[in-house]
Amino acid sequence: MDVLVPDIGDFTDVPVIEILVEVGQEVAEEDPLVVLESDKATMEVPSPAAGKVGDLLVKVGDKVSEGSPLVRIDGADGAKPAAAAAEPAAAEEPAAPAPEPAAKSDNHAQLLVLGSGVGGYTAAFRAADLGMDVVLVERDERLGGVCLNVGCIPSKALLHVAKIIAEAQLAAEHGVRFGDPEIDVDKLRGWKDDIVGKLTGGLAQMAKGRKVRVVNGEGRFTGPNALAVGDETITFDNAVVAAGSQAATLPGLPDDPRIADSTGALELPEIPGRLLVIGGGIIGLEMAAVYDALGAKVTVVELLDQLMPGCDPDLVKPLRKRIDERYEAIHLSTKVEKVEAADDGLRATLSNGETQTFDRVLVAVGRRPNGAAIGLDAAGVKADERGFVPVDDQMRTNVAHICAIGDIVGEPMLAHKAAHQGKVAAEVLAGHDVAFEPRGIPNVAYTEPEVAWVGLTETQAAEQGIEVEKAVFPWSASGRALSLDGSTGLTKLLFDPTTRRLLGAGAVGPSAGDLIAEPTFALEMGADAEDIGLTIHPHPTLSETIAFAADIAGGTITDLPNKKATRR
Ligand SMILES: Cc1cc2nc3c(=O)[nH]c(=O)nc-3n(C[C@H](O)[C@H](O)[C@H](O)COP(=O)(O)OP(=O)(O)OC[C@H]3O[C@@H](n4cnc5c(N)ncnc54)[C@H](O)[C@@H]3O)c2cc1C
Repeated sequence: MDVLVPDIGDFTDVPVIEILVEVGQEVAEEDPLVVLESDKATMEVPSPAAGKVGDLLVKVGDKVSEGSPLVRIDGADGAKPAAAAAEPAAAEEPAAPAPEPAAKSDNHAQLLVLGSGVGGYTAAFRAADLGMDVVLVERDERLGGVCLNVGCIPSKALLHVAKIIAEAQLAAEHGVRFGDPEIDVDKLRGWKDDIVGKLTGGLAQMAKGRKVRVVNGEGRFTGPNALAVGDETITFDNAVVAAGSQAATLPGLPDDPRIADSTGALELPEIPGRLLVIGGGIIGLEMAAVYDALGAKVTVVELLDQLMPGCDPDLVKPLRKRIDERYEAIHLSTKVEKVEAADDGLRATLSNGETQTFDRVLVAVGRRPNGAAIGLDAAGVKADERGFVPVDDQMRTNVAHICAIGDIVGEPMLAHKAAHQGKVAAEVLAGHDVAFEPRGIPNVAYTEPEVAWVGLTETQAAEQGIEVEKAVFPWSASGRALSLDGSTGLTKLLFDPTTRRLLGAGAVGPSAGDLIAEPTFALEMGADAEDIGLTIHPHPTLSETIAFAADIAGGTITDLPNKKATRR
């Protein structure tokens, strides 16, 4: 079979920058074959099946587009070519009618959930609460998936400590000096692990309480109503695929314990002298914030021309200003060309010509779905060439009795999105007429300062030609923000100029992540500027900045000069 360039969006004539296999080499399903580079991202093309490399159909430097042949794999007949996997999303196709109920084995469940991350356990618990008999399959010893074990929770525990250190340093400017922190890495790691243990242990208890049967092991579908876990086969009426995602890798990096992804970095192996963070997205910047506070000298390298791509630049600016002062370097529009392992460190060569030596490297270049190795084909469930599973707004895949949720269905890869989709999937499979139709899914970077946004961004509005009325309240005019050292912050609301309804919001500053819940609610409720401005917010709080921004749009602001005032 020939492996073809999969759907790569709008890109054409993309250069092949690396070939990762040789003729005659045995490859497993999902092994990366070649690396392509668009002006936005570097992407690996994986082998869709196991086999032997028969021929290389491109060389480094060739330009390719969707459907161009890349590599011939022998012995993989019958497996579908990579491009063939990129068929229309299930959301665009009517879901197939449910097959005849499977023959029930002794090991049968009304609902099988594959993966116990935030998406999976939420689906399992909601389904159990609705009276279904549920089996939850998880390969890790602990329930909770990435978020609880190696994602949201441990990172936020460490970010809390980073915040304390930052606040103590700032307090010196107000006449209160604590001295330099003494960091006991083992104790800090232990505290973080305790929090994770409490939460994951709590999940196990709740599963027991709801009579959700937890099966430990690697699950793989063997048919549309059957899943094998080791020697055990579980049959089911309905299933939810919640197998999540894993950190993406960068091709060509040496196999060296000093190079880690976010999971390795959260282990807190040590505090390096110099840390290179590859990737200036939310995860990279959060980990950079932790290690910076703990004393490492941080360099961030980002391929695109902005930190935190997707977020409006004005919201990133106060963060950029702070980390410019603290980090060794921030390189935008820059690629890490190679990293070489040496005894005295890791030598990184950047596309700007610089070569620098670091003690550790953190790779935070995105995440890829765990869709390739769970037997979706056997269940008849379509996945795209990257392993994402297309779903409709009821979270159904192309196979009507199998839903998919969370990171495996695509961006945004966020725990709260996974949880909401999990509830919808459980309710749909229990026969309820519900759908996943959020008006906004909030994004939060728990950096110092925090950055958060929801709904339409200004950048999207400009790109899509959507007219918006923007109202920005600078936190330098908020008494509460000043007392929290948050004067560089801002709250921004975007309204529809005709209906006055909220379309999007953003905030940067202390607790921006908590603040964004209010505009998210306002968005869901279809609130307009008056609704928000006339709601009495407690004083002095940061929440007032949301009402004040609405007052700016409404022309009733009194805490700032009022450009819309009609004076005699
Ligand atoms: C460092 C970091 C910080 C993050 N911080 C935040 C944050 O602050 N807020 C936020 O909203 N999101 C955050 N995220 C993202 C969040 O963790 C994910 O969006 C969320 O975990 C997705 O949940 P999920 O249920 O889809 O999948 P996952 O959490 O990936 O869970 C999938 C589960 O399926 C299991 N599994 C996979 N394949 C099999 C198989 N074949 N058999 C059995 N089990 C299998 C896995 O072991 C895993 O337990 C962060 C991620 C990282 C890496």
